[in-house]
Amino acid sequence: MSLILHGIGVSKGIAIGKVYILNHDQVEVNEYLLPKHRLDEEVARFENALEAARLQLQYLRTQIPKSSTVDLDAFLEAHLMMLEDSMLTKAPVELILEHHYNAEWALKTQCDRIVQIFKNMEDPYLSARKSDIEQVVVRVLRILRGHADTPIDAVELCANAIVVADDLSPADTILMQHHGILAFVTEFGGTTSHTAILARSLGIPAIVSLRRARTYLRTTDTLIADGSQGVLLVSPPADILRYYQRRQQQEKYQRSTLTKLKSAPVVTLDGTPITLHVNIEFPEDMVAVKRVGGEGIGLYRTEFLFLNRDQPPDEEEHLSAYLRVIKELNGGPITIRTLDLGADKQFEKRPDRPLSPNPALGLRAIRLCLKELKLFKPQLRAILRASAHGQVRIMIPMVSGLQEILQVRKLLTEIGEELSQKSIKFNPQIPFGAMVEIPAMAVCLDLFAPYLDFLSIGTNDLIQYTLALDRGDSAVNYLYDPLHPAILRLLKMSIEAAKEANKPISLCGEMASDTRYVRLLLGLGLRSFSVHPEAFLEVKQVINQSDLIGLTSLVNSVLNTTCLVEMSDLLEEING
Ligand code: PEP
Ligand code: MG
Repeated sequence: MSLILHGIGVSKGIAIGKVYILNHDQVEVNEYLLPKHRLDEEVARFENALEAARLQLQYLRTQIPKSSTVDLDAFLEAHLMMLEDSMLTKAPVELILEHHYNAEWALKTQCDRIVQIFKNMEDPYLSARKSDIEQVVVRVLRILRGHADTPIDAVELCANAIVVADDLSPADTILMQHHGILAFVTEFGGTTSHTAILARSLGIPAIVSLRRARTYLRTTDTLIADGSQGVLLVSPPADILRYYQRRQQQEKYQRSTLTKLKSAPVVTLDGTPITLHVNIEFPEDMVAVKRVGGEGIGLYRTEFLFLNRDQPPDEEEHLSAYLRVIKELNGGPITIRTLDLGADKQFEKRPDRPLSPNPALGLRAIRLCLKELKLFKPQLRAILRASAHGQVRIMIPMVSGLQEILQVRKLLTEIGEELSQKSIKFNPQIPFGAMVEIPAMAVCLDLFAPYLDFLSIGTNDLIQYTLALDRGDSAVNYLYDPLHPAILRLLKMSIEAAKEANKPISLCGEMASDTRYVRLLLGLGLRSFSVHPEAFLEVKQVINQSDLIGLTSLVNSVLNTTCLVEMSDLLEEING
């Protein structure tokens, strides 16, 4: 039977393929007592499951791509070692033999005991092992229950498939990135969640917030995922399949036409030059940047260096990542944003850091960095050292007040002095900027701009914090509106305040990558954009076909309307 399901399209493109249903959910464990004559059989069932788990992990180790950005091998090795440990291999067997527990219950009981011991440990490293043990136990439990998929298995199994999951963390998405996934569909998540941003960056069609999607699907289904419309077609009839195959071809053709713009300058019809840079998350993204002819990085989200690992990167690892990007840029500018961990980008293996009751408003980004200098200083040192090798700018995220700006400036001065004493080269005039992504920053930009060398507007968070909605929460995603008058006013205020202070201002939030808003932003006075690689050529095309003359008065009308119909008519006129 064919079905049509609707979610929110967050990364455009059409994918057609088989489904891979990813179940992260907890495994249900039945508890029962066994008669004596079945105990040996139960022990054998348990030991076979352990062996199957070992084989799975060994196989997965052989599948890690060379280009992997995370140390998957160490991660898998740690899990393999746990499968050899008597606390997981012998103790459950004793529970089966002594108490007649079934294998799942015995393993679960033993896991609860170990977790309790680990929970009480002061040492954050040992305490972090708790989640590893739980993951290993879930793996074995899933085998005992007859289903074998965990996120890490999906790395292998979901190749060439459309992955349907309850939710994917940015960390899961990274794990899957090199494996030819055709599309993502998740039951939760919002338009500017980091998973959605990653999907766009990787050029993979994605649909989020498709509630209960997995309950409608069978593993044999063929799917069509339309990432522009947010539509998922299940087992489509032949004529619909042909229609989407044609659309796929057309999209491919349009992409090849856009490629012709690769080396064209970015300039409006009236001759105004515009800066167009690219957002990246990994040094590997430079392949995509070069493919589209990008010559500068307007936002390097360095926090992705921290995901899917136990220990934070040290100074040398930071430096080597930055130098890789700088080398690929051949002298082009790069804005390195200091780490923006927290909210949906958790540095996962640090349970010593208590969970914030409201992560989006908690110890995130620059707040976390200023509290944990051990995390921050190696990064600052590495950025300063990198500045001796290219046009490096340093930018801090989630600034809400002048104090944060001054504190980072002071740290940079101190680190600069340390480097000078050791005769280590760096650029003492490295441009220092901040994200405008908290309303307080936008409102006070005239006061703060003199302390900064440049600014970059992060609309993803600016919208989240201005409209008081969690950007990752699908229940409030309907309120996410870049055209809300409050957002347009804050954008205008920020652009004007920066101009007044004679400080360059760019926009690196997702709004810049959405071609519907490019002319509106030009009309608001924006002259610098940073977009994800997949949007680069389309945005360039829109800019190059825009005439700034007459745009300002149309945009002023947008700023003065509260009527949605009028707003949409005006936008249509602007986009001509
Ligand atoms: C933003 O908030 O718009 C932004 C660019 O930063 P991030 O999406 O990484 O929070
Ligand atoms: Mg942000």
